[in-house]
Amino acid sequence: MKKKTVILSLAGAAVVLGGFGLFGYEYSMLGQRFQALETEAFQLQEENASLNQQLDGKSSELKENISKVEEQEKYIAGQKDYVSELTQQIQEYAAKLPKEDADEESGEMEGTDDTDPYGETEQDPYPDLYAQEHGSGISENQKYVYLTFDDGPSELTPQVLDLLDEYGAKATFFVVCKNNEEYAEYLPEIVKRGHTLALHSYSHDYHTIYRSLDAFLEDYEKVFDWVKKETGYTPSLFRFPGGSNNGSSYVRKEIIQEMERRGFVYYDWNVSSGDGSNLTTTENIIDNICSNVGYIENPVVLMHDGTGKQATLNALPSVLKYLAEEGYEFRSLDKTLQPVQF
Ligand code: ZN
Repeated sequence: MKKKTVILSLAGAAVVLGGFGLFGYEYSMLGQRFQALETEAFQLQEENASLNQQLDGKSSELKENISKVEEQEKYIAGQKDYVSELTQQIQEYAAKLPKEDADEESGEMEGTDDTDPYGETEQDPYPDLYAQEHGSGISENQKYVYLTFDDGPSELTPQVLDLLDEYGAKATFFVVCKNNEEYAEYLPEIVKRGHTLALHSYSHDYHTIYRSLDAFLEDYEKVFDWVKKETGYTPSLFRFPGGSNNGSSYVRKEIIQEMERRGFVYYDWNVSSGDGSNLTTTENIIDNICSNVGYIENPVVLMHDGTGKQATLNALPSVLKYLAEEGYEFRSLDKTLQPVQF
């Protein structure tokens, strides 16, 4: 019995010792693990701090770059202003040059800049196609309205002229040659009655005239020659068929530049009678003009005196009456006025 107890006690002690040993081992392992984690955490903390430092550095670098970009943008905007100012000066200078050139019999054009398609190197194929200066003074206290008639002359033109005369009104006629040749006798009549005879187009065919600069000039020269031959008068003003925003912007820019170099001024409009469409009634035309002129300073009114524009002719007496009562003076356009352009 005693022996058994001893054996049992020994076995018990061995189990307890073993247990302690195992626990001690586990404990030391955990200790090591804890130390490793602590080191790792410390390293991470250090890394974090250095990343934060880098981030701070980058953000101040970014701020610096942003302010540099802003400075550059300001500089570029300033340069743009300067360039557009220079461009304007060049255009003004270029517009003054053709006058001197036109007086030269040789027909040789002095180039105003390198982009001139008919500059120094090339013979100008349209040597006499240059505008003449004219103009009249305007008073600050007077309201002016500029009636303009496109696409004539036609069978309606003499009646338009008579109505204008009734009001002592001066207007501007942007004429077309093709299909209007039979009304050529009204061209000198327009000049004689003190209106401005201006050019619109020979063909009025968008596909032809806006194909290229040369196509435009070729067409324009024909109507220019026609008017000069019929009247002895040299026109200075013109209006693009469909307005100056018609055609491709590239060709249009080239045409405008070359036409201005030749001294021609183009006019768009800021009040439309809406009579371009044959569906527009006489009442529509009266309303479109009379209810809009008041909002515009120096209104330039688009109307048509081409064949078939009977509604416009019918509207004209009411339009003239209304505008005269409103205190407008009816003037014709000339080169001294600030042109209305789109
Ligand atoms: Zn037209």
